[in-house]
Amino acid sequence: MSIKQTDERYIAHTYKRFDVTIVSGEGSYCYDDNGKRYIDMTSGIGVNAFGYADPVWAKAVADQAKLLQHTSNLYYTAPCAELAEILCTRTGMSKVFFSNSGAEANECAIKVARKYAARAKGDEYYHIITLNKSFHGRTLTTLAATGQEIFHTQFTPLTEGFLYADANDIEGFERLVRENKVAGVLIETVQGEGGVNVLDAEYIRAVERVCRENDLILMIDEVQTGNGRTGKLYSYMHFGIRPDVVSTAKGLAAGLPMGATLMSEKVADVLGYGDHGSTFGGNPICAAAAISGLNRMDDAFLAQVAEKGRYVRERLEAAGFAVSGMGLMIGVETKKPVSEVLSSCMEKGVLCLSAKDKLRLLPPLNIPTQVLSRAVDLILEALSE
Ligand SMILES: *Cc1c(COP(=O)(O)O)cnc(C)c1O
Repeated sequence: MSIKQTDERYIAHTYKRFDVTIVSGEGSYCYDDNGKRYIDMTSGIGVNAFGYADPVWAKAVADQAKLLQHTSNLYYTAPCAELAEILCTRTGMSKVFFSNSGAEANECAIKVARKYAARAKGDEYYHIITLNKSFHGRTLTTLAATGQEIFHTQFTPLTEGFLYADANDIEGFERLVRENKVAGVLIETVQGEGGVNVLDAEYIRAVERVCRENDLILMIDEVQTGNGRTGKLYSYMHFGIRPDVVSTAKGLAAGLPMGATLMSEKVADVLGYGDHGSTFGGNPICAAAAISGLNRMDDAFLAQVAEKGRYVRERLEAAGFAVSGMGLMIGVETKKPVSEVLSSCMEKGVLCLSAKDKLRLLPPLNIPTQVLSRAVDLILEALSE
């Protein structure tokens, strides 16, 4: 049987895969089983921040693998302690809980908000407000948090206590806060899966104000926007706000599974012994990869992410396409169905993503300018055919 046949025979059909088998990669290129080369404008959905088989990343991973690949959270280990210190130092947050995915990072955030509110205001203050068109994960609780009906049907009952507001409608948000017993708010600054929709800066700041006035926990889901993707280390830093909780994953360990939930001083001590846990959380190899990655994401690096994002936006807009997003998280309105654009790009040797009916681009953050320029040439061809 071919790889495709074996996969289809033995793996649950939850993914509609493209008809391509990827076997290897180097930098911003990957190769299929026929040896065809693609420019990767997906980074494995915002994960491979430094592209494929990056030598610095690979050395950090290999060195740690030879030393200690896993022990358990019953013991102290250097990589996760060091990573937590880096995350807190660079964000001003106070404490970190490590997990393995975005959904888990959000689960932890929700537990923090609910326990804080239960202690501060009473057990009945358990509601969490999220936004329509949001995406927060696939567990039953993060599906409930996800403000898209399409994901909810067939899996009910989901975790109760979630309320949905329309993005950029502060009055609607305030009404939900007034009429319900609310613990906190969970939002993405740029809705990734929902169509690369950037929230209004004024709205984000107004949400923060309402949270302060009502003692609500402000949680920012930085699973996709975090770790340099938007041109700042975390996207909330563009808006001058101070979240109470930040969840992140995807690009954090640049290709290994790792989630983190960052807690501000206000909620740093909410989770106590036995309140939460994860067997793999803070895994030394993942932590070593994340340390290596974050240490490379200095101001100059982040500035070049922003600059490359501007370059892509300018070229697409000059050709008459509407572009949304921030940094190297880019959405493009297409004139024909996005599935056709994706296929045409693939034929031309560029891998791209979609988000709802938009073309979505999430290239490696260190993609060389010439490769990026070539990718944009090919994408423009595909968009204009
Ligand atoms: C991808 C994503 C998630 C879910 O992350 P997993 O690692 O797949 O669980 C949650 N929130 C946002 C904003 C995401 O983009």
